[in-house]
Amino acid sequence: MKLYNTLSRKVEEFIPYEKDNVTMYTCGPTVYHYAHIGNLRTYIAEDILEKALNYLGYNVKRVMNITDVGHLSSDADTGEDKMVKGAKREHKTVLEIAKYYTDCFKKDCEKLNIKWPETVVPATSLIDYYIEFIKELMNKGYAYLANGNIYFDTTKLDDYYKLTNHNEAELISGVRDTVEEDENKKNKTDFVLWFTKSKFEDQELKWESPWGLGYPGWHIECSCISLKYLGEKLDIHCGGVDNIFPHHTNEIAQTESYIGKKWCNYWFHAEHLNDATGKMSKSKGEFLTIDLLESKGYNPLAYRLFCLGSHYKNQLVFTFDSLDSTENAYNKLLNKVKSLKKDNSQIDQEAFDKYNNSFKSALEDNLNTSNALTVLYDVLKSDINDNTKLALVESFDKVLSLDLLKKEKIDDELLTYINEMIEKRKIAKSNKNFALADSIRDELLSKGIILKDTREGTTFEVNK
Ligand code: AMP
Ligand code: ZN
Repeated sequence: MKLYNTLSRKVEEFIPYEKDNVTMYTCGPTVYHYAHIGNLRTYIAEDILEKALNYLGYNVKRVMNITDVGHLSSDADTGEDKMVKGAKREHKTVLEIAKYYTDCFKKDCEKLNIKWPETVVPATSLIDYYIEFIKELMNKGYAYLANGNIYFDTTKLDDYYKLTNHNEAELISGVRDTVEEDENKKNKTDFVLWFTKSKFEDQELKWESPWGLGYPGWHIECSCISLKYLGEKLDIHCGGVDNIFPHHTNEIAQTESYIGKKWCNYWFHAEHLNDATGKMSKSKGEFLTIDLLESKGYNPLAYRLFCLGSHYKNQLVFTFDSLDSTENAYNKLLNKVKSLKKDNSQIDQEAFDKYNNSFKSALEDNLNTSNALTVLYDVLKSDINDNTKLALVESFDKVLSLDLLKKEKIDDELLTYINEMIEKRKIAKSNKNFALADSIRDELLSKGIILKDTREGTTFEVNK
């Protein structure tokens, strides 16, 4: 498989530390607000990466953090604390909003068929480990104490900028949305490992440390969570392009100083989704969330298809007009798949392998999802038999996750059962046994099957 690696600024052959087994770390959301559809574009790209690796035969061990402490409104450790700001806005505690927005993010992922990583770790759960990590960096001479805070000394490294294009001035001005400067730092790129002299009197969450009551800086969580759950050999680290500097640059600096060797080999960054006015924002204009798209009648999976239609390394502009055309295309695609009839004919193995190999080649080509979709359309247009088409669609959907065969699955596995239950309920109702009729309805509901009584009889809908 070939992947674009931000570290080498090249598309490279992907070779994991251990043959067939891949370790993958994802920077999770800062849970102070809903995720916007831009954030979710990055998580869709990472989901495709994990599923493509699985499809190509790798086992993937994946970990994601949840940022519930330490992320300030400027990535350069200045501005307000995002979690405290969110809690104030909603008159709740930091932990309450962290829980609420983590649950919302999880629901968004479910709606978009983004697989929840097997290990998800809130930043606040590993404070002791951060303290040990910082102590070790101080022992090794990479960190210093200044006015109560602990900073990483970036001048100790020759290759601090190795993840970026080394354009120092541009990088620094890019992350500053305030002119405020931290006077305690020896160098302007030094970053906070542990805050004690906080300018936030109202900082809610604080922990005892050798340097006083305080809380961790933002970058340390990802280094420590990754080391703890995935070890010192990390294959792929993911995030959006805005994470390259300073977040991932600082992660590399502190982790490699701590372990004394190279840490992560491949840095995967998804480009941004922009709206018509430019950068997507949680505070300005219409706050574009999956719930908002749903309230306007869109299927979240049409948004997933919208993202798959473009390459993750290209910026993408969101407009409702383009979502309209993607939703049309999505419905046509579903109808086309629905029209395929399962019969007893043999799978045409040669055709299956040919299309499957083209699909794999598209994935191997730095996750070319739009070419992968073209292979799907080629299959549907081809003259191979329906059984072979269905087998290919089912296979491709393991990666695309567009629920292309959902209706088929319901027909096969559930239809008989649902029809029997509907019949039983009808009989119960005609015998005036409403308690039984209601319990049948509830039992189906608990399985996500919603009954609808119409003049023509009872119909149903299945929710995931
Ligand atoms: P945050 O919750 O701010 O920590 O961001 C969560 C993820 O979304 C990170 O990986 C960011 O890099 C990514 N991200 C932020 N803005 C955008 C955007 N407009 N388009 C795509 N990804 C984004
Ligand atoms: Zn991170």
